[in-house]
Amino acid sequence: MGFFEPWWIMRVFIVLLMAPRIHGWGKEGHYVVCKIAENYLTEDALAAVKALLPDRAEGDLAAVCSWPDEIRFHYRWSSPLHYIDTPDFRCNYQYCRDCHDSVGRKDRCVTGAIYNYTMQLMQEHDDTDLSAVKYNLTEALMFLSHFVGDVHQPLHVGFTGDEGGNTIIIRWYRRKTNLHHVWDTMIIESALKTFYNSDLTTMIKSIQNNITDAFADECSSENCKGTVCPDPYATESINLACKFAYRNATPGSTLGDDYFLSRLPVVERRLAQSGVRLAALLNRIFSKHKSIASE
Ligand SMILES: [Zn+2]
Repeated sequence: MGFFEPWWIMRVFIVLLMAPRIHGWGKEGHYVVCKIAENYLTEDALAAVKALLPDRAEGDLAAVCSWPDEIRFHYRWSSPLHYIDTPDFRCNYQYCRDCHDSVGRKDRCVTGAIYNYTMQLMQEHDDTDLSAVKYNLTEALMFLSHFVGDVHQPLHVGFTGDEGGNTIIIRWYRRKTNLHHVWDTMIIESALKTFYNSDLTTMIKSIQNNITDAFADECSSENCKGTVCPDPYATESINLACKFAYRNATPGSTLGDDYFLSRLPVVERRLAQSGVRLAALLNRIFSKHKSIASE
Protein backbone atom coordinates (compact mmCIF):
# COMPACT_ATOMS: atom_id res chain seq x y z
CA MET A 1 0.00 0.00 0.00
CA GLY A 2 1.49 3.36 -1.04
CA PHE A 3 1.93 6.59 0.87
CA PHE A 4 -0.91 8.22 -0.97
CA GLU A 5 -3.56 5.66 -0.18
CA PRO A 6 -6.49 7.39 1.53
CA TRP A 7 -6.12 5.46 4.81
CA TRP A 8 -2.49 6.50 5.07
CA ILE A 9 -3.36 10.15 4.46
CA MET A 10 -6.09 9.75 7.07
CA ARG A 11 -3.58 8.34 9.58
CA VAL A 12 -1.16 11.20 9.03
CA PHE A 13 -4.04 13.61 9.44
CA ILE A 14 -5.12 11.98 12.71
CA VAL A 15 -1.55 12.04 14.07
CA LEU A 16 -1.33 15.74 13.21
CA LEU A 17 -4.64 16.38 14.96
CA MET A 18 -3.39 14.59 18.04
CA ALA A 19 -0.13 16.54 18.19
CA PRO A 20 0.08 18.18 21.61
CA ARG A 21 -0.24 21.93 22.08
CA ILE A 22 3.02 23.74 21.96
CA HIS A 23 4.11 25.27 25.21
CA GLY A 24 5.62 28.71 25.30
CA TRP A 25 8.46 30.70 23.88
CA GLY A 26 10.79 28.26 22.14
CA LYS A 27 14.13 27.30 23.63
CA GLU A 28 15.72 30.57 22.47
CA GLY A 29 12.96 32.75 23.94
CA HIS A 30 13.20 31.22 27.40
CA TYR A 31 16.99 31.40 27.27
CA VAL A 32 16.82 35.12 26.44
CA VAL A 33 14.37 35.82 29.30
CA CYS A 34 16.49 34.07 31.92
CA LYS A 35 19.79 35.50 30.62
CA ILE A 36 18.34 39.01 30.94
CA ALA A 37 16.99 38.20 34.42
CA GLU A 38 20.44 37.03 35.60
CA ASN A 39 21.81 40.53 35.00
CA TYR A 40 19.31 42.12 37.38
CA LEU A 41 19.56 39.73 40.32
CA THR A 42 20.79 41.02 43.66
CA GLU A 43 23.68 39.24 45.36
CA ASP A 44 21.29 37.52 47.80
CA ALA A 45 18.98 36.34 45.03
CA LEU A 46 21.83 35.15 42.83
CA ALA A 47 23.27 33.10 45.70
CA ALA A 48 19.86 31.57 46.49
CA VAL A 49 19.20 30.77 42.82
CA LYS A 50 22.62 29.14 42.38
CA ALA A 51 22.08 27.04 45.50
CA LEU A 52 18.79 25.70 44.10
CA LEU A 53 19.86 25.05 40.50
CA PRO A 54 20.46 21.42 39.52
CA ASP A 55 24.10 20.46 38.84
CA ARG A 56 23.54 20.24 35.10
CA ALA A 57 22.79 23.98 34.99
CA GLU A 58 26.39 24.68 36.04
CA GLY A 59 25.26 27.78 37.89
CA ASP A 60 23.39 29.22 34.89
CA LEU A 61 19.63 29.75 35.34
CA ALA A 62 19.14 30.22 31.58
CA ALA A 63 20.42 26.67 30.96
CA VAL A 64 17.33 25.14 32.60
CA CYS A 65 14.59 27.65 31.73
CA SER A 66 13.14 25.37 29.04
CA TRP A 67 13.03 22.38 31.40
CA PRO A 68 9.23 22.57 31.96
CA ASP A 69 8.72 22.15 28.19
CA GLU A 70 11.05 19.15 28.13
CA ILE A 71 9.17 17.29 30.89
CA ARG A 72 5.63 18.13 29.81
CA PHE A 73 5.01 14.57 28.61
CA HIS A 74 6.41 13.10 31.79
CA TYR A 75 4.58 15.53 34.11
CA ARG A 76 1.25 15.49 32.29
CA TRP A 77 -0.40 17.49 35.09
CA SER A 78 1.87 20.44 34.29
CA SER A 79 0.59 20.84 30.73
CA PRO A 80 -2.24 23.36 31.41
CA LEU A 81 0.11 25.46 33.55
CA HIS A 82 1.80 27.00 30.51
CA TYR A 83 -1.08 29.15 29.26
CA ILE A 84 -4.52 30.69 29.78
CA ASP A 85 -7.48 30.24 27.44
CA THR A 86 -9.79 33.27 27.38
CA PRO A 87 -13.31 33.53 25.91
CA ASP A 88 -13.27 33.94 22.13
CA PHE A 89 -12.85 37.48 20.78
CA ARG A 90 -13.18 39.17 24.18
CA CYS A 91 -9.64 40.59 24.39
CA ASN A 92 -9.60 40.65 28.19
CA TYR A 93 -8.55 38.37 31.03
CA GLN A 94 -10.01 37.72 34.48
CA TYR A 95 -8.37 35.35 36.94
CA CYS A 96 -11.60 33.93 38.38
CA ARG A 97 -13.20 33.40 34.99
CA ASP A 98 -10.18 32.17 33.01
CA CYS A 99 -7.68 30.46 35.32
CA HIS A 100 -8.70 26.81 35.06
CA ASP A 101 -7.77 23.80 32.94
CA SER A 102 -9.90 22.32 30.15
CA VAL A 103 -12.04 20.35 32.62
CA GLY A 104 -12.60 23.39 34.85
CA ARG A 105 -10.17 22.72 37.72
CA LYS A 106 -9.46 26.11 39.28
CA ASP A 107 -6.03 27.78 39.46
CA ARG A 108 -4.61 25.45 36.82
CA CYS A 109 -3.26 28.02 34.37
CA VAL A 110 -0.07 30.02 33.98
CA THR A 111 -0.97 32.84 36.41
CA GLY A 112 -2.16 30.30 38.99
CA ALA A 113 1.13 28.44 38.60
CA ILE A 114 3.13 31.65 39.11
CA TYR A 115 1.25 32.32 42.39
CA ASN A 116 1.76 28.73 43.50
CA TYR A 117 5.50 28.45 42.84
CA THR A 118 6.15 31.91 44.29
CA MET A 119 4.35 30.82 47.47
CA GLN A 120 6.40 27.60 47.66
CA LEU A 121 9.70 29.43 47.32
CA MET A 122 8.64 32.16 49.79
CA GLN A 123 7.47 29.72 52.45
CA GLU A 124 10.60 27.66 52.34
CA HIS A 125 12.85 30.68 52.24
CA ASP A 126 11.12 32.10 55.32
CA ASP A 127 11.13 28.78 57.13
CA THR A 128 14.21 28.40 59.30
CA ASP A 129 13.28 24.85 60.29
CA LEU A 130 14.92 22.80 57.52
CA SER A 131 13.15 19.63 58.59
CA ALA A 132 9.90 21.24 57.41
CA VAL A 133 10.84 21.23 53.71
CA LYS A 134 7.69 20.32 51.83
CA TYR A 135 8.40 21.25 48.24
CA ASN A 136 10.92 20.50 45.53
CA LEU A 137 12.35 24.00 45.38
CA THR A 138 14.67 23.26 42.47
CA GLU A 139 11.63 22.40 40.36
CA ALA A 140 9.70 25.36 41.79
CA LEU A 141 12.46 27.75 40.67
CA MET A 142 12.63 26.25 37.17
CA PHE A 143 8.84 26.27 36.78
CA LEU A 144 8.54 29.86 38.03
CA SER A 145 11.32 31.16 35.75
CA HIS A 146 9.70 29.44 32.77
CA PHE A 147 6.13 30.53 33.49
CA VAL A 148 7.03 34.21 33.98
CA GLY A 149 8.34 33.96 30.40
CA ASP A 150 5.23 32.15 29.12
CA VAL A 151 2.72 34.63 30.57
CA HIS A 152 4.44 37.37 28.54
CA GLN A 153 4.06 35.51 25.22
CA PRO A 154 0.91 37.23 23.88
CA LEU A 155 -0.63 34.04 22.50
CA HIS A 156 -0.19 32.22 25.81
CA VAL A 157 -3.20 34.25 26.84
CA GLY A 158 -5.30 33.61 23.73
CA PHE A 159 -8.75 32.51 22.69
CA THR A 160 -10.11 29.11 23.72
CA GLY A 161 -11.56 28.36 20.26
CA ASP A 162 -8.20 28.45 18.48
CA GLU A 163 -6.09 27.27 21.46
CA GLY A 164 -4.05 30.45 21.54
CA GLY A 165 -3.42 30.35 17.79
CA ASN A 166 -2.40 26.68 17.72
CA THR A 167 -5.21 25.78 15.31
CA ILE A 168 -4.72 28.81 13.04
CA ILE A 169 -2.71 27.36 10.17
CA ILE A 170 -0.80 29.97 8.20
CA ARG A 171 2.42 30.28 6.23
CA TRP A 172 5.46 31.96 7.73
CA TYR A 173 7.06 33.11 4.50
CA ARG A 174 7.05 29.81 2.56
CA ARG A 175 6.80 27.48 5.54
CA LYS A 176 3.51 26.05 6.70
CA THR A 177 3.04 26.36 10.46
CA ASN A 178 0.57 27.73 13.00
CA LEU A 179 0.20 31.20 14.47
CA HIS A 180 1.14 30.13 18.00
CA HIS A 181 4.42 28.70 16.75
CA VAL A 182 5.17 31.94 14.88
CA TRP A 183 5.05 33.78 18.22
CA ASP A 184 6.88 31.11 20.23
CA THR A 185 9.71 30.58 17.79
CA MET A 186 9.55 31.79 14.18
CA ILE A 187 9.74 35.56 14.79
CA ILE A 188 12.77 35.04 17.03
CA GLU A 189 14.41 32.64 14.56
CA SER A 190 13.86 35.00 11.63
CA ALA A 191 15.23 37.93 13.66
CA LEU A 192 18.33 35.94 14.58
CA LYS A 193 19.03 35.17 10.92
CA THR A 194 18.09 38.59 9.53
CA PHE A 195 19.53 40.98 12.10
CA TYR A 196 21.83 39.15 14.51
CA ASN A 197 24.06 36.97 12.34
CA SER A 198 22.40 33.90 13.93
CA ASP A 199 24.06 34.78 17.23
CA LEU A 200 21.79 34.69 20.28
CA THR A 201 24.28 36.61 22.46
CA THR A 202 24.18 39.54 20.01
CA MET A 203 20.38 39.50 20.10
CA ILE A 204 20.33 39.48 23.91
CA LYS A 205 22.74 42.45 24.04
CA SER A 206 20.60 44.40 21.60
CA ILE A 207 17.41 43.71 23.59
CA GLN A 208 19.14 44.71 26.81
CA ASN A 209 20.29 48.00 25.33
CA ASN A 210 16.65 48.92 24.76
CA ILE A 211 15.51 48.23 28.31
CA THR A 212 14.12 51.30 30.03
CA ASP A 213 12.43 52.02 33.36
CA ALA A 214 9.07 51.49 31.67
CA PHE A 215 9.82 47.75 31.77
CA ALA A 216 9.81 47.64 35.55
CA ASP A 217 7.12 45.54 37.11
CA GLU A 218 3.96 46.87 38.67
CA CYS A 219 3.86 45.05 41.97
CA SER A 220 3.39 48.35 43.74
CA SER A 221 0.12 48.98 41.92
CA GLU A 222 -3.23 48.37 43.58
CA ASN A 223 -4.31 45.29 41.66
CA CYS A 224 -1.32 43.30 42.81
CA LYS A 225 -1.00 40.89 45.69
CA GLY A 226 2.30 41.83 47.26
CA THR A 227 5.26 39.77 46.14
CA VAL A 228 3.94 38.58 42.82
CA CYS A 229 1.54 40.07 40.29
CA PRO A 230 1.09 38.00 37.14
CA ASP A 231 -2.46 39.19 36.42
CA PRO A 232 -1.50 42.52 34.79
CA TYR A 233 1.02 40.61 32.64
CA ALA A 234 -1.75 38.29 31.40
CA THR A 235 -3.97 41.30 30.66
CA GLU A 236 -1.15 42.88 28.66
CA SER A 237 -0.69 39.64 26.74
CA ILE A 238 -4.30 39.23 25.60
CA ASN A 239 -4.34 42.91 24.62
CA LEU A 240 -1.21 42.39 22.51
CA ALA A 241 -2.64 39.16 21.11
CA CYS A 242 -5.70 41.06 19.83
CA LYS A 243 -3.79 44.10 18.63
CA PHE A 244 -0.83 42.37 16.98
CA ALA A 245 -0.85 38.56 16.97
CA TYR A 246 -4.34 37.77 15.64
CA ARG A 247 -4.57 40.85 13.41
CA ASN A 248 -4.03 40.07 9.70
CA ALA A 249 -3.33 36.44 10.56
CA THR A 250 -6.49 34.69 9.43
CA PRO A 251 -6.33 30.96 8.66
CA GLY A 252 -4.66 30.30 5.32
CA SER A 253 -2.88 33.65 5.14
CA THR A 254 0.82 34.07 4.39
CA LEU A 255 2.78 36.18 6.86
CA GLY A 256 5.89 37.88 5.53
CA ASP A 257 7.93 41.06 5.91
CA ASP A 258 5.04 43.35 6.87
CA TYR A 259 3.97 41.10 9.73
CA PHE A 260 7.52 40.18 10.80
CA LEU A 261 8.90 43.72 10.92
CA SER A 262 5.91 45.19 12.75
CA ARG A 263 5.67 42.36 15.33
CA LEU A 264 9.36 41.87 16.10
CA PRO A 265 9.52 44.98 18.36
CA VAL A 266 6.58 43.56 20.34
CA VAL A 267 8.33 40.20 20.79
CA GLU A 268 11.61 41.83 21.84
CA ARG A 269 9.84 44.10 24.30
CA ARG A 270 7.99 41.15 25.87
CA LEU A 271 11.24 39.17 26.23
CA ALA A 272 12.86 42.16 27.95
CA GLN A 273 9.88 42.72 30.24
CA SER A 274 9.81 39.05 31.26
CA GLY A 275 13.50 39.14 32.12
CA VAL A 276 13.33 42.34 34.17
CA ARG A 277 10.18 41.23 35.98
CA LEU A 278 11.48 37.72 36.69
CA ALA A 279 14.58 39.26 38.29
CA ALA A 280 12.46 41.66 40.38
CA LEU A 281 10.31 38.74 41.56
CA LEU A 282 13.30 36.54 42.49
CA ASN A 283 14.88 39.51 44.26
CA ARG A 284 11.75 39.90 46.40
CA ILE A 285 11.45 36.18 47.11
CA PHE A 286 15.07 35.82 48.19
CA SER A 287 15.48 39.16 49.96
CA LYS A 288 17.13 38.60 53.34
CA HIS A 289 15.68 41.85 54.67
CA LYS A 290 12.10 41.12 53.64
CA SER A 291 10.80 40.09 57.06
CA ILE A 292 12.46 43.03 58.83
CA ALA A 293 10.95 45.47 56.34
CA SER A 294 7.45 44.09 56.88
CA GLU A 295 7.57 44.16 60.65
ZN1 LIG B 1 5.89 26.87 28.46
